[in-house]
Amino acid sequence: MEKKAFVTKEQVEEIVKSYPTPFHIYDEKGIRENAKAMKEAFAWNPGYQEFFAVKANPNPFLIRILKEYGCGCDCSSYTELLLSDAIGVNGNNIMFSSNDTPAEDFELADRLGATINLDDFTHIDFLEKVLGKLPERLSLRYNPGGVYTISNGIMDNPGDAKYGMTKEQLIRAYGILKEKGVKEFGLHAFLVSNTVTNDYYPMLARTLFELAVEIKEKTGVALDFINLSGGVGVAYRPDQTSNDIRIIGEGVHKVYDEILKPAGLGNVAIYTEMGRFMTGPYGMLVTRAIHEKHTYKEYIGVDACAVNLMRPAMYGAYHHITVLGKENAPCDHVYDVTGSLCENNDKFAIDRELPEIAIGDYLAIHDTGAHGYAMGYNYNGKLKSAELLLAEDGSVKLIRRAETPADYFATLDCFPEFSEITKKK
Ligand SMILES: *Cc1c(COP(=O)(O)O)cnc(C)c1O
Repeated sequence: MEKKAFVTKEQVEEIVKSYPTPFHIYDEKGIRENAKAMKEAFAWNPGYQEFFAVKANPNPFLIRILKEYGCGCDCSSYTELLLSDAIGVNGNNIMFSSNDTPAEDFELADRLGATINLDDFTHIDFLEKVLGKLPERLSLRYNPGGVYTISNGIMDNPGDAKYGMTKEQLIRAYGILKEKGVKEFGLHAFLVSNTVTNDYYPMLARTLFELAVEIKEKTGVALDFINLSGGVGVAYRPDQTSNDIRIIGEGVHKVYDEILKPAGLGNVAIYTEMGRFMTGPYGMLVTRAIHEKHTYKEYIGVDACAVNLMRPAMYGAYHHITVLGKENAPCDHVYDVTGSLCENNDKFAIDRELPEIAIGDYLAIHDTGAHGYAMGYNYNGKLKSAELLLAEDGSVKLIRRAETPADYFATLDCFPEFSEITKKK
């Protein structure tokens, strides 16, 4: 699939007059079209709901756009819960899927009326102690162990993952919850991350639907919802083919009719907790080449660094790069594109074939709309960038300002030496 930047060099030259690089910019039109397609793909299931994984992009402006398409929020921490509530997403519109959960997080989730998804068997007791009693609606997270393989060799290793409970624990847990008066039940699993195939959700659905039938047989619990969670990926590389959400939705539909309906479970609501798929392709990190360096390799130094986008440093992840204004130039140079951290893994690209880059060129680093800004940190005292929205009418809106030194030093308010600097914006 050809990867095209959704802004041009000319647009960026206008934008930088107000908002200097680096910045993340999001494509409102792309986010809306995708959210609509998502909703349509699962419209066959009357109870269907997407709970956007807030950790992927905790920008309230973007989440409010998704809310227009019926999306709730999947939260995993205290502050994510506060964020959701602040923009009016609460009650059953919050799925609280956390692990190693602090007591105060459970308390807040319960106070907001969130659906709590328990990561472990021992959390039943923990939650009951924290709240005084169990909520009437609870979900449980499953981990089948071993290796989970789907088409074209894509797999992950749930057996090594810290999440979820074993099948034996799960079945015991439903029995206990039922005895303790829980009335509505859910099942959740997240087995493979960033799948670029239309087969993952239908395969996961088969695993979970068969388990739902077994749960009903063994405990008498008829599940109210099954949460397929995240894991539907995006085509980061140009040689990959993007997932087709319509095919995925239909694939789940087919398995639903085959397994759940005949088992008397035809009212189960399907939930998803997608993050990456909802916003990933609709964000870009725009940065400017500020240095070139010729030593044992050819380097281009840009004004963004891993603080703005950690995935390449952390996972060796590929993010496509477009040199704006040189979209049609031959890729006849080989560069490492680096940030300025005192860490040699701070490279957005290694041995990447690109057009010849001149100092001052703008580079668009693709697919930063999920797990991009969100994973940012402040190593080397680097500040987080602004986030901008390219609105449908072509205008550009600031949806989060860039950090300033005052923000960086704000937590040092116990030191009078920093009071001058923290007063400045
Ligand atoms: C990270 C996460 C998601 C979202 O995953 P994506 O790969 O971004 O879709 C959903 N649910 C849970 C519990 C998660 O931890």
